[in-house]
Amino acid sequence: MDEPDSTGRFGTFGGRFVPEPLMQALMDLEVNFRKFWSDPEFKGEYYDILKNFGGRPTPVTFLKNMSNDLGVNLYLKREDLAHTGSHKINNVIGQALLAKRMGKSNLIAETGAGQHGVATATAAALLGLKATVYMGAVDVKRQGLNVFRMELLGAKVVPVESGSKTLKDAVNEAMRAWVKEVDDTHYCLGSVMGPHPYPWIVREFQRILGSEARSQIYEILGGKYPNYVVACVGGGSNAAGTFSGFVDTDAELVGVEASGGAALTYGTVGVVHGMKSYILQDEVGQILEASSISAGLDYPGVGPEHSFLKENKRVRYETATDSEVLSAFKILSSSEGIIPALESAHGLAWIIKASRTGEISQGSNVLLTLSGRGDKDVAEVKEMVDRGTVI
Ligand SMILES: *Cc1c(COP(=O)(O)O)cnc(C)c1O
Repeated sequence: MDEPDSTGRFGTFGGRFVPEPLMQALMDLEVNFRKFWSDPEFKGEYYDILKNFGGRPTPVTFLKNMSNDLGVNLYLKREDLAHTGSHKINNVIGQALLAKRMGKSNLIAETGAGQHGVATATAAALLGLKATVYMGAVDVKRQGLNVFRMELLGAKVVPVESGSKTLKDAVNEAMRAWVKEVDDTHYCLGSVMGPHPYPWIVREFQRILGSEARSQIYEILGGKYPNYVVACVGGGSNAAGTFSGFVDTDAELVGVEASGGAALTYGTVGVVHGMKSYILQDEVGQILEASSISAGLDYPGVGPEHSFLKENKRVRYETATDSEVLSAFKILSSSEGIIPALESAHGLAWIIKASRTGEISQGSNVLLTLSGRGDKDVAEVKEMVDRGTVI
């Protein structure tokens, strides 16, 4: 998991499929990222904020009760304990600092359920930047609380009325808006996706997650790496950060997609949002709507580096269904006292299934990145319980 090649590709995936006016902005961004990411002062400030504001390093927790039940040793990397409740803070602090160094005073961002919008608004408030968040009109209606959170943090939320009025339309609109204001605005993209250099930048800002986990679990296991390292995959940023810490070890790396948004498992290769990658699309290349119980995994594409890791077989990609996820959500809550984000519960759901079927052999050491906490999801799960969905 090194730098992409000079055309911004991981193998044949990635690249920069954008209209001419965006090219220059992306090239400037790459030059500046290269410069500041190798600047000890920039890195120092980034690490300092993530420590003293973001709550890093997050711990690795051994799950005693579930390990007993499953017959494997299960460990969680606790991104649920990071500020704003997930790994997203690692990326937005990095990009907001980069924007400041580039002399930009505004951030724009896309958001689906609102989690990346809230994280971006948080970073903007901290660093004195103005934030504008593009959000599909349908999502604005569904996620009223997150809209209010963003406004409380000082951000402006713009409802997007085009297309299906959801995340993929918000990305298109944010890119269009960026072209018009590129002189004083940075587009703070939320995952390891989009045109080069974003997949690379976001993975580098999420690398901290994998590096921490690597040294923590090595110490816990008395000088060994785990047999399995597992993370859920939406756009793929928490998984990319996690895997970057273990790609050179013997660990089997497993990314788990939502079965209703599994671009790597059910998709085909195409171009969307400026990148070449696996995508959920119909025969004529129309992007299909992803759907799962976790809004954070409702993205019809996936970051190009994951497509590359799938093709070169360094990572295997699995899926979890909504009902497996709800069951994992309940098991972790009741047996360990940790309510997971529904996104993260996908990774756990696969581990539970694979341990029970013997696919993960007894006594294996398994590390899961718990990408976020479930506070944002309890109201939705309660509604399902009230409607009679068995969990
Ligand atoms: C946004 C989100 C995800 C999905 O994004 P990735 O880029 O795939 O990491 C996963 N988990 C949580 C808790 C999230 O908020």
